[in-house]
Amino acid sequence: MDNEKIEEVVQELLELIGEDAGREGLIDTPRRVAKSYKKLFGGYDEDPKKLITVFDNEGYDEMIIAKDIDFYSTCEHHMLPFIGKAYVGYIPDDKIIGLSKLPRLVEIFSRRLQNQERMTKQIADTINDLLKPRGVGVVIKAEHLCMKARGVEKQNCEISTSSFTGLFIKNQNTRAEFLNLIKSG
Ligand code: ZN
Repeated sequence: MDNEKIEEVVQELLELIGEDAGREGLIDTPRRVAKSYKKLFGGYDEDPKKLITVFDNEGYDEMIIAKDIDFYSTCEHHMLPFIGKAYVGYIPDDKIIGLSKLPRLVEIFSRRLQNQERMTKQIADTINDLLKPRGVGVVIKAEHLCMKARGVEKQNCEISTSSFTGLFIKNQNTRAEFLNLIKSG
């Protein structure tokens, strides 16, 4: 990321929306925005297939679930945040991954310009490619600032997306078990 260039563009943007980019409160804003973009869009530089180590499964054949994974992403249509929780589950075959890697995967795909549908599918597809498990289920529930602050101005609308592979598609009971286990409370 070219920080200097981003700072220039943000300064120009401030002027274009009618601000005085030189006033005290805004003088450091371009620098702060550029710095925050490093975090918000840091997922482009990370290849999940390189970062995630796969282990041999020693006979565990039930569902593994990571729930309530908080994430912060940015919608690609408005460059406004969408914020929510991800629920990731899989049934292993020969391979498993470290438990902390499930939230890590969500982190990598959320730190980009995204749409919720794609992000959901990318997480499921990556686990599927890495582990060749018997099935994967991913559910994401999020609130979109672009819906809250502009457009339809719907304050309490939560968007839910899901992506399933393998047994989560073929077997109604597996999917129902997953959906039941991720219910809050
Ligand atoms: Zn949007």
